[in-house]
Amino acid sequence: MPENRQVIIIGSGPAGLTAAIYSARANLSPLVIEGEPSSTSDQPGGQLMLTTDVENYPGFPEGIMGPELMQNFRSQAERFGADFLTQKVTRVDFSSNPFQMWVGETTYTADAVIVSTGARSVMLNLPNEFELVGHGLSTCATCDGFFFRDQEIGVVGGGDSAMEEATFLSRFASKVTVIHRRDELRASKIMQDRAFSNPKIDFLWNHEVTSYKGESKLEGITVKDVNSGQEKDLALSGLFIAIGHKPNTDIFQGQLDLLENGYISTQSDSSLTNISGVFACGDVQDFTYRQAITAAGSGCMAAIDAERWLEDQSG
Ligand code: NAP
Repeated sequence: MPENRQVIIIGSGPAGLTAAIYSARANLSPLVIEGEPSSTSDQPGGQLMLTTDVENYPGFPEGIMGPELMQNFRSQAERFGADFLTQKVTRVDFSSNPFQMWVGETTYTADAVIVSTGARSVMLNLPNEFELVGHGLSTCATCDGFFFRDQEIGVVGGGDSAMEEATFLSRFASKVTVIHRRDELRASKIMQDRAFSNPKIDFLWNHEVTSYKGESKLEGITVKDVNSGQEKDLALSGLFIAIGHKPNTDIFQGQLDLLENGYISTQSDSSLTNISGVFACGDVQDFTYRQAITAAGSGCMAAIDAERWLEDQSG
């Protein structure tokens, strides 16, 4: 069995890696169980791994690529002695201390745990969806937009993510159709204006996607008018789903208090969960701000909370 750690950090987006930098510099030798490479945001580095330009992270006046920013975070944590395990935690038991975590059959234990498992893209849950991801269906314009040069594609959703994806995709595609289930957008005014003024972006209002066409590759979609119920086919070679996110909290069900929307409940102005010694930070507990900088800030809070908590236990 691996040695007991003072701190284990589960998840490695801006929150987890900032917690790693702070707790490593506090000599707590954290182990970061960072996740496994995958095609979704549920991977080492988190959602910024699926982004190109990050223009609003302070300290980078010219902007920085998401993956490069996360590599910088990781290198900084490694420099101060954080260890990394590139695997996924499959089960936890926080009912007694030291807390137990499993990666498959292997158990890891720690005096304090920082949960920073983030959030992931919501899908439409239509037949053949999983098979088509990566074959015309995508949740990441910045990853896959290049493959749709001069083609007609769609974006589902009416929020900031959908407007951002549509605007980015218009650099490649010949036409981008935003398919939204209502007749007004949820996106912020500036993002709406940017999309409305883009000649390559069209809007299909009051429509839902009801099925995907194509077996091994997306060849089109069927959409339904939510008012009349009438269906029609659209010949699209690419469809980007941008309908929001879900927190990665499945393994914490029954272990930590979760809110109704699935996010981890933390005490206000802190990273404290309902279990003394378990802290949560970043998108797994924040459904309001959801920014890299706020996630990083809350990762710093979690590391400081954990450090103080460990000190109290030993004193
Ligand atoms: P969101 O604001 O929750 O918007 C989700 C959109 O998807 C809504 O328009 C919703 O429709 C639609 N939707 C949800 N479920 C659907 C379904 N099953 N079928 C069809 N449509 C569905 O999510 P988001 O756009 O990912 O944004 C999340 C947060 O991140 C927001 O606070 C946003 O401001 C922020 N964000 C900011 C930026 C930026 O500033 N650069 C970029 C991206 C995201 P309804 O409107 O009908 O509910």
